[in-house]
Amino acid sequence: MSDIFDLLITGGTVIDPGSGTNQKLDIGITADRIAAIRSNIPPVSARKALNVEGCIITPGLIDFHVHSYWGVNPYGFNADRICLASGVTTTMDAGSSGPTNFLGFRKLVYEQSRTRMLAFVAMAQHGVLNDPGELENLRFADPEGAAQAVAENRDVAIGIKLRMHKKSVGENSRAALRLAVKTGEACRAPLMVHVGDTAISMEEIVESLRAGDVVTHCYTPQQPSILDKNGRLLDAVRKARERGVIFDVGHAGGHFDFNLVRRAMSDGLLPDIISSDLHGRLKQPGFGVVGDLPTVMTKFLALGLSLERIIAACTSSPAGAVGFQDRLGRLEIGREADIAVLQILDDPVTLRDSLGAEKLHRQRIAAKWTIRAGEVFEGSC
Ligand SMILES: [Zn+2]
Repeated sequence: MSDIFDLLITGGTVIDPGSGTNQKLDIGITADRIAAIRSNIPPVSARKALNVEGCIITPGLIDFHVHSYWGVNPYGFNADRICLASGVTTTMDAGSSGPTNFLGFRKLVYEQSRTRMLAFVAMAQHGVLNDPGELENLRFADPEGAAQAVAENRDVAIGIKLRMHKKSVGENSRAALRLAVKTGEACRAPLMVHVGDTAISMEEIVESLRAGDVVTHCYTPQQPSILDKNGRLLDAVRKARERGVIFDVGHAGGHFDFNLVRRAMSDGLLPDIISSDLHGRLKQPGFGVVGDLPTVMTKFLALGLSLERIIAACTSSPAGAVGFQDRLGRLEIGREADIAVLQILDDPVTLRDSLGAEKLHRQRIAAKWTIRAGEVFEGSC
């Protein structure tokens, strides 16, 4: 008996860096699972068919750095709508919850959202704060509690978050970094560190990190930079990357500089992970210079990064960084049907960075459809 699928995605090209696939293939979905990936599945074998000719089919995009603890954290916003309109099926919240209120994140955000919303847990008790900063007073650090929250919630809590700008940690950068590395060790999970406007040197930061820890805002124009004063990639950064420290974009309003990215990439520092850092304090319409994850991906297309590499930086790479490569970031029969249907539109677009520089590009990446656990959501393009 031939298969009857609930949904068939047909006519598109699958680009799935995690499995090394780049070819025309159809995908059959039954209930919330991928049931078939092969060429020429007849549309009559499905209850519903989505013709996506001319589109690229990728694993559901993973936005590795957002702030989704809305109604509780000052940076939080309801990220579901923008995610499902932009190909994003999984987000990683960057420290909006701490050990005191992680359970609320689990109950109110993870369990209530259509997008799969995972979280790095802040070492600070209540998660990241705006003013005063969350670790200006180190008495607010709860390393044991943070490690315990991760250890007891491995399905949702994927690592530890530490912001290291002066506004967050005051004079406590060095002490907080030491504590956070120990916290990551205690729960055997990656530590994500915010750099930018940080009181200690980039060398000290990256040399303190373990393989698998993450530097977010890696292309920030703020100090200390990954580049030296002559605009060359710091040796310490190159060495850290070689031993497995992960570099994540974390665009946000203030952490993207076209010139700096170009120089760093030409010196060998390609982004391991491309993320938006969308948050609720980006007050400009349409989230300002960030836009959405496909817009950030388009910036790397304009900077000459290959499409496959860009897709890997939003699928297999972030999944692997948190040890979820067995369930996320790759198209495979039996996995949850999380899929992005993207278009490369021949639609000239003016891209902006955090310093006001503009770059005109002849194409843009946009989401046509987002499929989350078999359910279809219309994209914004
Ligand atoms: Zn952030």
